[in-house]
Amino acid sequence: MSDTLVRGSSMDGTIRVFCAITTDLVNKAHEIHQTSRVATAALGRLLTGAAIMGAAGLKSENDSITLQIHGDGQLGQLIAVTDCNSKVRGYVQNPAVQLPLKENGKLDVGGAVGNGSLVVLRDLGLKEPYVGQVPLVTGEIAEDLTVYYAQSEQTPTAMALGVLVSTEDNSVIAAGGYMIQLLPGADEETAVKIEEHLAKVKPITKMIEEGMSAQDIIFEVTDGFSMMLQNEEAFPEYQCKCSKEKMEKALISIGAAELQSLIDEQGEAELCCHFCNNKYMFDKAALEELLKSAK
Ligand code: ZN
Repeated sequence: MSDTLVRGSSMDGTIRVFCAITTDLVNKAHEIHQTSRVATAALGRLLTGAAIMGAAGLKSENDSITLQIHGDGQLGQLIAVTDCNSKVRGYVQNPAVQLPLKENGKLDVGGAVGNGSLVVLRDLGLKEPYVGQVPLVTGEIAEDLTVYYAQSEQTPTAMALGVLVSTEDNSVIAAGGYMIQLLPGADEETAVKIEEHLAKVKPITKMIEEGMSAQDIIFEVTDGFSMMLQNEEAFPEYQCKCSKEKMEKALISIGAAELQSLIDEQGEAELCCHFCNNKYMFDKAALEELLKSAK
């Protein structure tokens, strides 16, 4: 099944829900970054969370949400960026990290992330992005994003994110997530009912592996409420937005003095995009051209 994102809301408008299937997207991230199993799970969950948050919180094409995990675990920093169409890109500092499985047989994402903070930057095209920061609770990503919504946006949220990695070739078998939010007007009883129900549903990766669609999953996790689904689906995808032009701008922004010493000392520059590993070469003539713009 290809990657999709579906949204829905309750008839009375007090509950909204998003579900994303991101198996291909996370597998592409794994291939680009050559991530270990635990790194694939951590980055995959963050990318899936970003895809959902982009659909939930952004409207305009040029806006973006950046999620940064600053943990003291072996993975180092993790970043995921999304636009309003759930086109995401991401990066993990130490993609090769391997840790023993947890006692329950699951990948130890929380252990690999460690303690630290989650920073959420919402860039809505204004002078400064909105910045929210919360301490990591478990490092398992979904819980941490839930706390962000509760503390920074005062929105009660339940989120599940999952990545199932093959033990044979480390490829991604199933990945996805869902987010349920209570909007103003929702009562305490609704919150309790949802919480009790979610405690009983299968893990998200299990549902995807069994072939359930994003629509099926929404009805499953909101069972007991009348839900309406929006007809319009989105298609989450791993997509980098780097370009020669952006790299030129980055080089110009280091300033004339730095550019001059780069020309004198290296004679050329090779820039590599962190998100997709594309390489951009600038020879001496190209750097000298940029130097004119930097002056
Ligand atoms: Zn790139």
